[in-house]
Amino acid sequence: MTIGILGGGQLGYMLALAGYPLGLHFRFFDPSPEAPVGRIASRVTADFSDEAALEKFASGLELVTYEFENVPVEAVRYLAERVPVLPSAKALEVAQDRISEKTLFQELGIPTTEFEPVTGADALDSAVKKIGLPAILKTCRMGYDGKGQWHLRTPDDVARAKSELPAAQASPNRIPYILEKFVPFTRELSVIAVRSRTGETAVYPLVENHHRGGILRLSIAPAPHLDPAIQRSAEQAARAVFDELEYVGVLAIEFFEQNGRLLANEMAPRVHNSGHWTIEGALTSQFENHLRSVVGLPLGSTLAIGCSAMLNLIGETPDAAEVLAVRDAHLHLYGKAPRAGRKLGHVTLRASSSEQLASRLSELSSFFHRPEYCLDAILSRPASLRA
Ligand code: AMP
Repeated sequence: MTIGILGGGQLGYMLALAGYPLGLHFRFFDPSPEAPVGRIASRVTADFSDEAALEKFASGLELVTYEFENVPVEAVRYLAERVPVLPSAKALEVAQDRISEKTLFQELGIPTTEFEPVTGADALDSAVKKIGLPAILKTCRMGYDGKGQWHLRTPDDVARAKSELPAAQASPNRIPYILEKFVPFTRELSVIAVRSRTGETAVYPLVENHHRGGILRLSIAPAPHLDPAIQRSAEQAARAVFDELEYVGVLAIEFFEQNGRLLANEMAPRVHNSGHWTIEGALTSQFENHLRSVVGLPLGSTLAIGCSAMLNLIGETPDAAEVLAVRDAHLHLYGKAPRAGRKLGHVTLRASSSEQLASRLSELSSFFHRPEYCLDAILSRPASLRA
């Protein structure tokens, strides 16, 4: 059985690694000849608008899934006329636009921060009046890793953002920006859930995420000191999205925890960076469960094995021997050329208790003790792993 995957980055790479033991074969589609999956699977290198290339890609495939959420929906619709595509084009379409995503959350009774659509520079002042400061202005589409965002704390920040935005269009086809009320959150949490073709669902324990510069640096799973009511409300949110979209595959929803409740920030209709820990830290990884779900196989257990921490390797990689000298540390390198801000790999550390995890994290080499890894901040926090 050959599965087609749109996007050939590290998520696709780890999907294939999880699928080979299940006897699956893979074919990738990615516009870049440098895509990391080139090392391990066949691929079509072409633009997503190239219908002849999409046709060639689809030939003989059992089904298509994706690992990259900015695949043009038109390409997915074109493929869906030829071969099943899971999750559906509808799920992709909703997740590609921050306004439709937050509107869906609200329709499903999932709380979000307050937000206002912004058509362009001229519309910013009235949106700021409604939402107030501090706020975050974001591009509705194509933003990732904190790109396309303006933190607005003062009227000067608003004036600066206005000078960088194009004028508002009278009736744009798509609203280009969203203004969100800033959430003074206690922490960021995400849920990774999966629904299979047969309707079976499974949910991993919530993950605590730490970002710097808009990029995920460190995840801790299960999230320490978690109120079971919070886990339940995240599970309910995932199930509401599943039902509404007749969803098949892994779904990630990112939340802010504030005053003992969750506000949904965004969702990803795919395997997610905050689920990488599941490779060693759960009985079944998110990658294997995604494949099981789209193929229609029974799902695997999402139970966590002890405690895990996952650290992203951004822009450069540490000495492999130093990482692996720490007990129960696992290194994953994606085979990408180093570049500032690029995710080149990750390290997962496992332990049997949160105290042991804290002690193993503190043993990591000086590479990880730079401020951007957030490690020292977490280890010294009052409500940290050590509490
Ligand atoms: P996003 O691209 O929406 O995931 O935003 C990247 C990061 O910016 C988030 O993980 C948060 O750390 C921060 N952020 C985004 N939106 C908000 C918000 N409304 N309030 C506070 N922080 C935010």
